[in-house]
Amino acid sequence: MTELKKYQMYIDGKYVNAENNKTFESMNPATGESWATIPEASAKDVDLAVKAAHRAFTSGPWSTMLPTQRGKLLRRLGDLLAKHSEELGEIETTDTGKLLKETRWQAGYISEYFHYYAGLADKVQGATLPIDKADMFAMTIREPLGVVAAIVPWNSQLFLTAVKLGPALATGNTVVLKASEHASAPMLAFAKVFEEAGFPPGVVNIVTGFGDPCGKVLSSHPLVDRISFTGGLETARHIIRNSAENFAQVSTELGGKSPMIIFADADMKSAINGILLSVFSASGQSCVAGSRLLIQDSIYDEVVAKIAERAAEICIGDPLDDKTQMGPLATRNQLDNIEHSIRLSLEMGAKLVYGARRPSGLNPEGLYYEPTIIECPNMDVHVAKTEMFGPVVSVLRFKDEKEAIAIANNTNFGLASGIFTTNIGRGIRMSKAIRSGIVWINTYRAVSPMAPFGGFKDSGHGRESGLEAVYDYTREKTIWINTSSEPIDDPFRMQ
Ligand code: NAD
Repeated sequence: MTELKKYQMYIDGKYVNAENNKTFESMNPATGESWATIPEASAKDVDLAVKAAHRAFTSGPWSTMLPTQRGKLLRRLGDLLAKHSEELGEIETTDTGKLLKETRWQAGYISEYFHYYAGLADKVQGATLPIDKADMFAMTIREPLGVVAAIVPWNSQLFLTAVKLGPALATGNTVVLKASEHASAPMLAFAKVFEEAGFPPGVVNIVTGFGDPCGKVLSSHPLVDRISFTGGLETARHIIRNSAENFAQVSTELGGKSPMIIFADADMKSAINGILLSVFSASGQSCVAGSRLLIQDSIYDEVVAKIAERAAEICIGDPLDDKTQMGPLATRNQLDNIEHSIRLSLEMGAKLVYGARRPSGLNPEGLYYEPTIIECPNMDVHVAKTEMFGPVVSVLRFKDEKEAIAIANNTNFGLASGIFTTNIGRGIRMSKAIRSGIVWINTYRAVSPMAPFGGFKDSGHGRESGLEAVYDYTREKTIWINTSSEPIDDPFRMQ
């Protein structure tokens, strides 16, 4: 048996084990074998990390560092990430089963997020107020909030971390990051890049462990001022309850059941590629997966036949191999949930078009699953309304715009949507009518540091990326100045 790689947490600028030396093993989803040991943080470790972040915020060199200087550190971090993208990508692929092509690209592209927020660090400003009182000058300044708890899920972990860290650090906060228990290694490898960039100790701390106690203690810690959470709906409910302990500001980026709507006038080649991109890339393990495919009546049979043909051609295999197009799922639990949902949905009247099998000829211990296409008679079928977080698409038909909007909005989620049409007026009408935070017209999964990202309804609240994100990590302070040369009035002698 090969020796397991040992990772350590990063607290107050030092690499440390859990105080009680407890660890857990991380599994490689492509082989089903353990490959690394990860510290299992106790409540005491989390407390140490939060206190280190609080010290760095209140008294370390970070507390007096000028915004321009913070921007320079972030720029350097971005440059170093680009340099280390191959090695970080390999670790993320080994830990999560995501394709190396994607993790390598993401690790490189997130440097753009740090460059973007580096440029904004010294552009966050307050205002002077046209106040309604004589002899008064009033202004606002924007200040950092303090200690930010950033809690992330396993998928696209470095990417999801960057969208939180960029604005949080640019505006002068300090951070405790909680890695997902399913993908701790890439986050711990990320620590080396902060160190190399020259961030002072305590500005960024990384803890690893389970929801309870690690995430629970972090999100309810009295010294935490802001919680930025990405993950599942049920966990978000815990986080919001935990924040009743510290009154931290909370933002939530949660799951989705995003509609992908194909009109009869769509460019067919583009629409088919868009469907594959939306739900089978990243093995469908994406919060924005276009997992509800809505097809207009007159092209329904043609589109279903084409995607089934293309799904059968997808090359499934080792995520480290650049020829592979779909890797394994990340956890056994997900695989079990998907199989259960499909069984249930078939009993409820859904029809299997393609997939729903573990492919043959691959490592039997790997968590591989075929791209799966299920026709659903309505939105009551389990697979049509539940987030699958896997390569499973539910297909529904519609006759006109009105029906497409009704089906698209018939969900508690509201993260993203896709519309394929060559009628731009229709595209705009639809994008206004659909209740989701992101609408892609004739494209899908496009993201950028400049574009806000976030959901409606059970997909969470708050926006990440974009200019506004920096304000989310600051608060306004109002300063009043008396400009009169006279002494102020005696409050008990009214004139
Ligand atoms: P999850 O909710 O199980 O875990 C997310 C994080 O929360 C992990 O670090 C976990 O340890 C932690 N956690 C668990 N219990 C906790 C508690 N009681 N208190 C504090 N922290 C706790 O999510 P997951 O299964 O890792 O990820 C999949 C989910 O994330 C999907 O629903 C997906 O759609 C969503 N997601 C959303 C976005 C987005 O930007 N909207 C992006 C990626 C993933």
